[in-house]
Amino acid sequence: MSGFQSPRGLRDLLEPLASAHGWATDRAWAAADAAGYARIELPIAEESALFERAVGGTSDIVSKELYRLEPRGDDAVTLALRPEATAGAVRAYIQHGMRSQPQPVRLATVAQLFRYDRPQKGRYRQFTQFDIEAIGDSGPGIDLEVIELGAAYLRDLGLTDVQVHLNSVGCTTCRPAYVETLRAHFTPVVQELSEVDQSRLATNPLRLLDSKEPATVKRAASAPAITDHLCADCTAHHASVTAGLATIGVAVVPAPRLVRGLDYYTRTAWEYLLPGEQGQQGALGGGGRYDGLVELLGGTPTPGIGFAIGIDRVVLALEARGLLPTAAAGPAIVVAGIEPESVAERVAIAGQLRAAGVSARADVSTRKIGKQLEGAVRDGALAVIIVEPDGHLTLRDLVKASQAEPAERGGVIAAALQLVKNEG
Ligand code: AMP
Repeated sequence: MSGFQSPRGLRDLLEPLASAHGWATDRAWAAADAAGYARIELPIAEESALFERAVGGTSDIVSKELYRLEPRGDDAVTLALRPEATAGAVRAYIQHGMRSQPQPVRLATVAQLFRYDRPQKGRYRQFTQFDIEAIGDSGPGIDLEVIELGAAYLRDLGLTDVQVHLNSVGCTTCRPAYVETLRAHFTPVVQELSEVDQSRLATNPLRLLDSKEPATVKRAASAPAITDHLCADCTAHHASVTAGLATIGVAVVPAPRLVRGLDYYTRTAWEYLLPGEQGQQGALGGGGRYDGLVELLGGTPTPGIGFAIGIDRVVLALEARGLLPTAAAGPAIVVAGIEPESVAERVAIAGQLRAAGVSARADVSTRKIGKQLEGAVRDGALAVIIVEPDGHLTLRDLVKASQAEPAERGGVIAAALQLVKNEG
């Protein structure tokens, strides 16, 4: 049976991408730790109603892209594979009474997400995001902290040309009037819009600014900017964030039409973009303030803000720039043997080397010693320990192409550890 393939949009990550993914993920956790964000691991599925409520029924990720799971047994609720991490983090904040902790509560996670989208380069049905959430602070200072954290993470990976595209999407005070202004702007051309965009015009005109449909994009170019229609509080908040980012030295591009695809955003919204990348590949991540979300999910009114950076896109960008870290090196030492009977001894010695902190593997084959040595060279090993028929060990230095006299186990292992220290 050889017909199976990985499902469409679900990838196997082979080297060097697997190591690069792991590296970018480790760096994400480290960046979060260093900034005092508590790690949180969230379930990979939640009640589907959580996403419907949080993200919004008209959003693409709920209306078209959600993977729902059939209820099983007595479990009456429909679960869905998470398409984003914020809803789960806010659910956890409420469920675990984090409101009683000092605010804001700073949380970080790295999450596998699932969206039923049309797969293409940089767009997969399973992907990974580095997610930061700061819940419980409404001031512009936390906006600066969160935006800078994401920008610094990307910069430190080597993506030094990343730009922050910044907007404010207003609040419940000022946005409704702007949405009507937007509706009035698009209504004269309604007949030219696609069916989907006609329905967006009716239900959620803000989405039209996100549309990829040519007729909509054309009309959006002359749409009124939301930043000209903010209330006094939103204007002051936005001005403060903009000025603060300039002080920090984060490169900002004003993006008055950036609305992001989710319903829960208020005020500050941004994206991390790499100029010069094709299509969506330059969109590395984005974030926003979600001051109404905790309340929407049943908690006490509490502001929040966060970002999500796509690890898959980060790895693609690193690859395109020749910045991929090297894949994990092979073992420093290979333990070979002359006689097939020495296999268990080889495995034991390799284990002892690893316990001493040196990477090692046993050659567990019954191949001739010459073949075993070739395998060690192919692996890039620094040295081979050969188990002789009489139980003595021979240490062969593959770098210097020299070989010591067979000796007792303890001495040879000590010499091997020293060799790796000197040459590794
Ligand atoms: P979003 O949650 O849609 O705002 O996306 C935030 C970031 O996650 C994007 O900028 C991408 O880097 C990444 N991302 C979103 N959707 C996908 C996907 N289908 N495949 C890979 N990465 C994605």
